[in-house]
Amino acid sequence: MTAATTVLKPDTSSSYDVAAIRADFPALSLEINGYPHAFLDSGASAQKPNQVLERMDQAYRSEYANVHRGAYTLSQLATDNYENARSTVAKFMNAKTPDEIIFTRNVTAAINLVAHSYGREFLSAGDEIIISHMEHHANIVPWQLLRDAIGIEIKVAPVDDAGNFLMDEFEKLLNPKTKLVAITQVSNVLGTIVPIKEVVRLAHDQDAHVLIDGAQGIVHEGVDVQDLDADFYAFTGHKLYGPTGIGVLWGKLDLLNKMPPYQGGGDMIENVTFEKTTYRDAPARFEAGTPPIVEAVGLAAAIDYVSIIGLTNIAAHEQSLLAYANDKLATIEGLTIIGQADNKAGIISFMLGDIHSHDIGTIIDARGVAVRAGHHCAQPLMDRYGVAATARASFGLYSNKSDIDQLVDALNYVKEIFG
Ligand SMILES: *Cc1c(COP(=O)(O)O)cnc(C)c1O
Repeated sequence: MTAATTVLKPDTSSSYDVAAIRADFPALSLEINGYPHAFLDSGASAQKPNQVLERMDQAYRSEYANVHRGAYTLSQLATDNYENARSTVAKFMNAKTPDEIIFTRNVTAAINLVAHSYGREFLSAGDEIIISHMEHHANIVPWQLLRDAIGIEIKVAPVDDAGNFLMDEFEKLLNPKTKLVAITQVSNVLGTIVPIKEVVRLAHDQDAHVLIDGAQGIVHEGVDVQDLDADFYAFTGHKLYGPTGIGVLWGKLDLLNKMPPYQGGGDMIENVTFEKTTYRDAPARFEAGTPPIVEAVGLAAAIDYVSIIGLTNIAAHEQSLLAYANDKLATIEGLTIIGQADNKAGIISFMLGDIHSHDIGTIIDARGVAVRAGHHCAQPLMDRYGVAATARASFGLYSNKSDIDQLVDALNYVKEIFG
């Protein structure tokens, strides 16, 4: 990391210096419609610290060329940066080797990669896959496309009214036809933390593979892929305080090397003739074309940033905000929280009487508060709770109590307007 302007102790949550952290994020000191910026939409995309912005700026200004091609100095430097970023990601997830880390465009692209490549090689008509009722469209639609192409069946593991994942019901769905379980680690709508280690164990007992959508999980919980022992884990850079345009697919190396390429092009081949082409091993075989070079460098800087603060400290901070927000929101009459699982991350979806969530979002924006309003790319889950849309506040490592106070004031203002 080049521009470390913050020194943070990684040990206890009492030393968590949220003011110093906020000073690293230029977007948080913006004034929005005459109010301080209360950014409560990190679940959709997180703001970026100076450490990431400056690292990417430097990579473009003085370390830039295409990778894996030239013998010249800058190309070597760019290649080293790109491959070092892969190693940083591997360490962050505790992967066995950086070869298990494939850079993609985002988590959506990572899941589509698995659906196409693994799906067409390992699945056939009549096979079953299990997803959960909480999935983001990114972990539903790729499987439906595959179902329509090759005739697999999709089973859905339910949640209860509070948003808890029902392990017993999931277990009942497992059978010898189950080939893959694709499930989120943390719900982007309900905040539910799914006991994924137990899911992996039960699925493996049936010889099924497991893919974890870690888009929210890596941010709020982190992951140790060797301890978890899933087969695939996917996440997206922009929710982890990194840039857009980069995501990660981790997979077990022997499995990745049994999977055919998903896209063809430069950098992924061993040898090409018009009659026959042979492919390189993972990760190269899944990275056709010029990769997101500077985005990878930015993601590594974001991971360094998060690692200095410490994922456990961040989670503790977000949990204390969650408790604070739950108490404060409970004072607003007519406010209902959707998703009260026993174990949840810093994500709160809510309804305010029968006021439409888009109206809530628009009115509180006039008071500087940013929340997401809508179906959150999880329409089946909205149907499950009988709502068309919710407003959602989600916390990041820089969120603070003032953000929540400002939200509560703004919601009271919404109530005044609707009388
Ligand atoms: C945001 C999100 C996605 C999609 O992320 P992209 O960066 O748009 O690919 C998928 N799953 C979950 C749980 C998410 O929160």
